[in-house]
Amino acid sequence: MSIKFKNANVLNKDFDILESQDLIVENNRIKTIRATDSSDDSKYERVIDCNDNYLIPGIKNSHSHNAMVFLRSMSDDLPLHDWLQKYCFPNEAKLTYEDIYYFTMLGIMENLSSGVTGSMDMYLDSYAMADACLAVGFRVNICDTMQKFNKKIAPEEYYLEFNNYKGDNGNLIKYNLGMHAEYTNTEELIKMMSDLTHKYKASFFTHIAETKFEVDGCKERWGGLTPVQVFEKFGLFDYGGGGYHCVHIEDCDYEIFKKHDCIAVTCPGSNVKLASGIPKVKKMLDYGLRVAIGTDGPASNNAIDMFREMYLTTTLQKVTNDDASVLKPKEILKMVMVNGAACLGHTDGDVLEEGKLADIVLIDVNKPNMQPRNTFINNLVYSCGKQNVKLTMVDGRILYEDGKFLIKEDENYVYKKCNELLHNLLNR
Ligand SMILES: [Zn+2]
Repeated sequence: MSIKFKNANVLNKDFDILESQDLIVENNRIKTIRATDSSDDSKYERVIDCNDNYLIPGIKNSHSHNAMVFLRSMSDDLPLHDWLQKYCFPNEAKLTYEDIYYFTMLGIMENLSSGVTGSMDMYLDSYAMADACLAVGFRVNICDTMQKFNKKIAPEEYYLEFNNYKGDNGNLIKYNLGMHAEYTNTEELIKMMSDLTHKYKASFFTHIAETKFEVDGCKERWGGLTPVQVFEKFGLFDYGGGGYHCVHIEDCDYEIFKKHDCIAVTCPGSNVKLASGIPKVKKMLDYGLRVAIGTDGPASNNAIDMFREMYLTTTLQKVTNDDASVLKPKEILKMVMVNGAACLGHTDGDVLEEGKLADIVLIDVNKPNMQPRNTFINNLVYSCGKQNVKLTMVDGRILYEDGKFLIKEDENYVYKKCNELLHNLLNR
């Protein structure tokens, strides 16, 4: 399969623009990027005239619970712990494989329409999640959601199975060791997970310090230790990894993250909606930490929209630091492209270069919100939205183009099916 994008402006690895380029994809890789010429196009299976629009690397959603679309707008305006205990957990206990398969598929469609080519997803049925991702052709990194309430706890079995699921060999589907959070696990489970990270020399990801309530509770349980200190005490970061949210991490935690080169995944939309607080992203960068960005679940956000997350990541830092100059667009793009690719374990899908994975998005600037053509990357972070995503390609396949999903299932069938499944779930 070979596809030629012609007459494109290409965002390069330094987040500068290469004007008037042709980018050629062969199978699932970028074969060539070169100045547009009038060479013969007949040898390509498809030639896409970009009409002076912009090709950017796929955006990575580094923390999601895609299947939680079913809880979207069902239980808003509640504190996190009420929301979790009263709405999320009771309904999640009723989910079936089919529910999670179709809800995940709907979440993936929303990601694709936001220019997202891969997500680090955490949810309950890894088989349903992986099957939905393979059916669509979406890249996912499943993070173990181990917690003491789970019916089955088998992270080693999952780790081995989903890092080579149905012969995929880690191309689209990868699996990360992880757990839901400190407060939903026991010392025994934390030790078991630590043994696995050492056995497989594997990184570890989990929710960390999302709320002050969580950190205060952790200190009570662990003689004054923060969640980050607890995980370090048991060696869970010995092979790297990171934390989701990190809103209430403390000075000692920044040092631990720095020591282990952990990635802090910020989810500002979810944090502000649940009033969890504003993560100190500028301080993370000042410490030299790597930061990536995620949407968290659509039950707490409520949209899977990485443009909104990019905007919030930078603007919240400007206001909390009383300095409009902090977190410039290039820093934000590095978070969602390079650091996101590191989170997903696909470091060859980070930028647009020859030989890299063909995870590519075409941004249409011929819309009012992207005009006039001043500085593209500033428009991309401050002004761009889903309406500008003209095409999303994952692993060399176009999965979304001109508002249509080019996936296994008809989009209207997925919407109908998800509504039926939700109705049945609520009546069980
Ligand atoms: Zn989460």
